[in-house]
Amino acid sequence: MGDTVYRGSCLCGGVRLSLAAEPLAVALCHCRHCQKQSGSAFSAAMIVPAAAVDIEGTLSEFMDVSDSGQAISRRFCGVCGSPVQTISAATDEQGITVIKAGLMDSPSMPAPQMQIYCDRAVSWMPDLPGTARFDRMPPAAGLSSKE
Ligand SMILES: [Zn+2]
Ligand SMILES: [Zn+2]
Repeated sequence: MGDTVYRGSCLCGGVRLSLAAEPLAVALCHCRHCQKQSGSAFSAAMIVPAAAVDIEGTLSEFMDVSDSGQAISRRFCGVCGSPVQTISAATDEQGITVIKAGLMDSPSMPAPQMQIYCDRAVSWMPDLPGTARFDRMPPAAGLSSKE
């Protein structure tokens, strides 16, 4: 692919990422699994063409299950614990992958355009101007096509 657009790493630096394309979308996910995996109120995800992502270093894997019963591979740095990438059969089919936006060093985390699983968001979450809100997945995202 072309020039590097984004560069990032996990907390310890053992896993390094470069993205050769702008994200197709940036989403905040308020689902319980993302809350637990991130240890925070939500996760920030960049949806990018899989072919544009280069990852160096060793990722550990946790096999999770989505709402629709799909297997989801959540990949993270086994040394420092930073979540890095999420993959499923649906993302593979579409040639996309999900990268945690908070890993980006340069430029830093891009602004989100959407929030998903808002029906599970913490009650104190303020309004974020410029984001489309969905109770679950956006209807057109295709990521929920197996539901
Ligand atoms: Zn690490
Ligand atoms: Zn989530």
